[in-house]
Amino acid sequence: MKRKFLGIDIGGTNLRGKIISEKGDVLGEGKTRSDAHMGISRLMENLAGFIKGFAGEEISAIGIGIPGVFDRRNGTLVQAPNIANTKNFPFAAALSDGIGTATPVFIENDASCAALGEYLAGAGRGSDSMVMITLGTGFGGGIILDGRLWSGEDGFAGEVGHITIDPSGSLCSCGARGCIETYVSQVAIKRIVREHTELGKKLAGTEESAIPERLAELAREKDRAAISIWNDFGTNLGVGISILVNILDVKTVVVGGGLSGAWELFIGKTLEETERRCLGGAARGLRIKRAVLGDDSGVLGACYVAKSGLGESS
Ligand SMILES: [Zn+2]
Repeated sequence: MKRKFLGIDIGGTNLRGKIISEKGDVLGEGKTRSDAHMGISRLMENLAGFIKGFAGEEISAIGIGIPGVFDRRNGTLVQAPNIANTKNFPFAAALSDGIGTATPVFIENDASCAALGEYLAGAGRGSDSMVMITLGTGFGGGIILDGRLWSGEDGFAGEVGHITIDPSGSLCSCGARGCIETYVSQVAIKRIVREHTELGKKLAGTEESAIPERLAELAREKDRAAISIWNDFGTNLGVGISILVNILDVKTVVVGGGLSGAWELFIGKTLEETERRCLGGAARGLRIKRAVLGDDSGVLGACYVAKSGLGESS
């Protein structure tokens, strides 16, 4: 029997699913509301219903990308900032109760799934090892080493957003100070604009979610303060990338997520800073590329998580 793999990406608004074949061809897809803002119980109901909707497809394994920190050893969702009531939630057990099937399920952080998606089907194709950075609400990451997703011993690897770049800096959602996520993310941009007297006035009345886009527009209109913020953003991103490159010596770094839309406003500073900070030959041949799959990277990556979790066909 030909195997089929179902991948699901859990987002703040939607659950998205795709089915792929052994070769990676997309055979089907679907989407429904996640209602994540209504809490974990509602989300689990929606997720179980969504998976059951694929019951006629004879799925060999399911991969799920989860927007939070997942403890693989205990099957618990340690924390998920965008889903209410998730602290140490027994995700794996609740899912198994909800779907009531023997189909194997493999769970990964959503940014790790996105990295695997870009690696196998997007900007990372052809590289051996790669790091992906997702610049969304936060600063997500995923690490591919020698062709395999590196999730760490318990599934916690790739939390690159919590690299410290200023020990006495701004308070991060994780409780520490000065994580790169507090300088290079949507949350960071909103805070920096709020704290900036001149830009705070210029963007007063702008809907909170539209602030990064408006800041990009201002920079394109040659507003000096806005340009300066994107320059700092690029420099700080370069600091983060150089730390990763100095440790891992990867030659491909893929940058995606909503803020990558402001690419031309920050990438020059990012390249400059990375070049300056990478030691020896670590920067030789380094390619910092823009992600190409958009929202599909996470859901395709979840399909590949299912496939690699099950292993080679016997
Ligand atoms: Zn942090």
